[in-house]
Amino acid sequence: MRKILFSLALISVASQASASVKIEEELFIFGQKPEIVRELIEAGSVEVDHVSSEGFELYGSKGLSKYLDSKKIPYFDMKSVSKSAFSDYPSHTEITNKLKAAEAKNPGIMKLFSIGKSVKGKELWVMKISDNVNVDEIEPEFKYISSMHGDEITGREMTVSLIQEIAAKYGSDSELTELVNNSEIYIMPSMNPDGSERKQRANANGTDLNRDFPDLKDPNIAGNMQIENQHVMKFQASRKFSLSANFHGGTIVANYPWDSTYDRHPLDGLVKELSLAYAELNPEMRSSREFAGGITNGADWYVVKGGMQDWSCFFYNDLQITLEVSHDKWPNYSEIPGFYKSNRESMVNYMKQVHRGAGIKIKRPNISGTVAIKQISPVAKNLGSYAFSSSEFYKVLPEGQYSYTVSEKNKAAKEITVFIERDKVFSNGNFTVID
Ligand SMILES: [Zn+2]
Repeated sequence: MRKILFSLALISVASQASASVKIEEELFIFGQKPEIVRELIEAGSVEVDHVSSEGFELYGSKGLSKYLDSKKIPYFDMKSVSKSAFSDYPSHTEITNKLKAAEAKNPGIMKLFSIGKSVKGKELWVMKISDNVNVDEIEPEFKYISSMHGDEITGREMTVSLIQEIAAKYGSDSELTELVNNSEIYIMPSMNPDGSERKQRANANGTDLNRDFPDLKDPNIAGNMQIENQHVMKFQASRKFSLSANFHGGTIVANYPWDSTYDRHPLDGLVKELSLAYAELNPEMRSSREFAGGITNGADWYVVKGGMQDWSCFFYNDLQITLEVSHDKWPNYSEIPGFYKSNRESMVNYMKQVHRGAGIKIKRPNISGTVAIKQISPVAKNLGSYAFSSSEFYKVLPEGQYSYTVSEKNKAAKEITVFIERDKVFSNGNFTVID
């Protein structure tokens, strides 16, 4: 019966490729993709993740395992794994308390706020970290988001650890202090708290949040995204992020755009450098046997449509990479300090990369317009035009000399020249103030 249902689902979904997959079964298939699985993928009936030389993860609705049984395709049910490690992890309430405690410890640089609620009503917490935290200063804006896949928990714990460390060491650790003083950092440890509570990939509606963002080729901005994604989309629109990353688990690699197309990103060299800024300081990532240098182009690995990374890079001036930080999605809780130790330098170094850029600040308030960017050296190149608002624009760029042509309605365009030096990360000259 299930088999028939699954076959019917396959046929009905084939005609509407954008329909999202309801995730009720989480399977692992060893080896290469069998033909029948390829058919399911092409029809949009299943989702695939973490393709490696060992095999791949396969997600789908109820009946998928029985369907594979009928086709004699062996699989491993990932939900059958012992949940003994489950109870050691903090609950959503405990995570909330840890974040509130960090804010209370150093309220001058930490401000905790919620961008909305999950399907089951849990607050989606974001910590803003900056000096003069209650003021919107002219500083580059950075963000980390973790665990949009609820069962990929390592990043949640590591981002909470990072927040705690910054709260404790601000003022004594010069690197962290400079970073906080010169940037506006936003960290969201748990984008899918309902999924994490159930130790599952999808949100409470059974939807994979990392397949539910507007796609580059088919922007359905006003579509019916899951509530968690709608909150993140509004949050993104309210800020001026120019660099970000999102944490996952299942393997160890830094994945750069694009995920949804084999085209190269216009700043392909830069997104590779940014990925290396993370990977090279993580011993296991750097020495990966699966991925050279611990980095990979997203689509070259496997194509993902509707992911957060491409959405952020395409619709906003926010370069984003995807960080896979543990082979085991849900390791024993006792291993978390070890994961934080091996990722801590990478996490800090990646945040610092937001200073590899240049911005403008217009003295008059609430000005919007566009900035056309041309690279002058090392090679002359047109890098396109970007919208800005609230009198502020900033972009992370490769080392070089650039011209920014700032245009606003009913005013003559203004051209400025900016220089970006890779190693000059904390210079406060990132912003040129113009009339
Ligand atoms: Zn993931």
